[in-house]
Amino acid sequence: MNTEAKIVNGKKLAAEVRAELAKKIAAGGGQPVLAVVLVGNNEASRIYVRNKQNAAQEVGIKCEIHELPADVSQEKLQQFIESLNQNPAINGIIIQQPLPQHLEVLPLLKLIAPNKDVDGLGPMNLGLLMLRSAQAVIAATPKGILKMLNSTGVNLQGKHTVIIGRSNIVGKPLAQLLLNQDCTVTLTHSKTKNLPLITATADIVIAACGCPKMVKASWLKPGAMVIDVGINRSPEGKLCGDVDFDEVFDKVSFISPVPGGVGPMTVAMLLENTYEAFCAQQEE
Ligand code: NDP
Repeated sequence: MNTEAKIVNGKKLAAEVRAELAKKIAAGGGQPVLAVVLVGNNEASRIYVRNKQNAAQEVGIKCEIHELPADVSQEKLQQFIESLNQNPAINGIIIQQPLPQHLEVLPLLKLIAPNKDVDGLGPMNLGLLMLRSAQAVIAATPKGILKMLNSTGVNLQGKHTVIIGRSNIVGKPLAQLLLNQDCTVTLTHSKTKNLPLITATADIVIAACGCPKMVKASWLKPGAMVIDVGINRSPEGKLCGDVDFDEVFDKVSFISPVPGGVGPMTVAMLLENTYEAFCAQQEE
């Protein structure tokens, strides 16, 4: 297999998703609208939000950024989200995380109307995912990862998939999504014992722990597929994932790079969810 064929190219796949969405939006009546709630001055959040806005504009989705001060109260923020819920001109709502320390995220996620919850992180959509309902809005990062796995043409059924990281936004919904695809899923975390021995039994390893270059070749069985979700800065200041890409490359069958892997797919899936929410709301 040549080198290129091994790489799960999220950047290219995301561009295809966006092109498809742009075509559909241009052909249909009306413009989907996404509201992004941005609290405070987190520099990384600002960059992520700007990327989302640029990508949305490219496909014909209007992306409104609602900036609130870092000291906004929980009550004020909840009232604001309620007003977005009530606004029929808005099809999707996301809250950019992390939030300032004094704010609780769960009451906010509970508040977003499930049909506008285009991040798929509210309890209703996570519950629907668990119940394997077709109505579930699938969280953007897990949805993008599934598309990346499917793009390899490998049959996922019965594959032992080890996920490193159990966060509410990546690891947990991803475990459920892949279980629904008939993978055999092992969900690991910082207290897991003998992690390298567990990953070495996996057909698929998905690293989402935020530990720069933690996964080494010795952690993998020959021919494993690897998806790297991590976004970290190496000591030299370069972007890197949770997997030591260069070291594992010869051992794996497929691997996603950082940057150019899961990141662009996450944004593309957010746009797809917004378009799907728009379409569903037109029919209500
Ligand atoms: P969190 O910090 O919320 O969760 C990290 C998870 O990894 C936790 O479950 C933690 O375990 C586990 N973990 C931490 N250290 C280890 C370790 N040494 N061994 C095993 N497990 C460990 O992070 P997120 O899920 O939000 O993000 C994970 C990474 O993915 C980050 O680098 C983030 O930047 C990136 N990310 C990338 C996205 C993209 O679009 N590409 C989207 C979202 C995140 P425990 O629960 O025990 O604490």
